[in-house]
Amino acid sequence: MNIEIIPVTAFQQNCSLIWDDEKNAAIIDPGGEAEKLIGRIEELGLNLEAILLTHAHLDHVGAAEQVKQHFGVEIWGPQEEDRFLFDSLPEQSQRFGMPTIHAFLPDRWLHEGETIHAGGGIFEILHLPGHTPGHIGFIEKQKKAAFTGDVLFQGSIGRTDLPGGNYTQLISAIREKLFKLNGDMIIIAGHGPYTTIEHEKTNNPFLK
Ligand SMILES: [Zn+2]
Repeated sequence: MNIEIIPVTAFQQNCSLIWDDEKNAAIIDPGGEAEKLIGRIEELGLNLEAILLTHAHLDHVGAAEQVKQHFGVEIWGPQEEDRFLFDSLPEQSQRFGMPTIHAFLPDRWLHEGETIHAGGGIFEILHLPGHTPGHIGFIEKQKKAAFTGDVLFQGSIGRTDLPGGNYTQLISAIREKLFKLNGDMIIIAGHGPYTTIEHEKTNNPFLK
């Protein structure tokens, strides 16, 4: 699996583009700068199969509709508990001082226990609430790559002070779900450098 991280928006959100050797591709959390993302997908000659979303914060979903319109593919995820955040996208744009993003909904909600195929990956869905109520992670066990949005960062954890946030839920999602994954699983987080489960178990000051 090829993985390219494309930071987008003023928040430097890690949009991930993944593809296999047949150029079947998926994009995870296209948070903004739609033209840049569309341009890169076309430059690489990829066949985009799906748009995957970890949660409904503006910096993760802001370009999803434009990418969808351009390539005619569906938006999958997160879990339905994030519906209120999709409804509030215009307010989120105002609050963050970004151009207005109109409210939309994904074509398909995803749920813990489901497995999806996209971009050459086979992803197990984990529900990881606490940063937002419907937050999910896309876990590719064979390729040892987990796309987990704003739950666990290198040396840090996701914010829980935004609408629907819950600190206790976040800590238990990390301890009881992410920390059950193999230590060498690579965590591709929504912001900052990638890390591994083992590294965070040993070093993350929020999880000692
Ligand atoms: Zn977020």
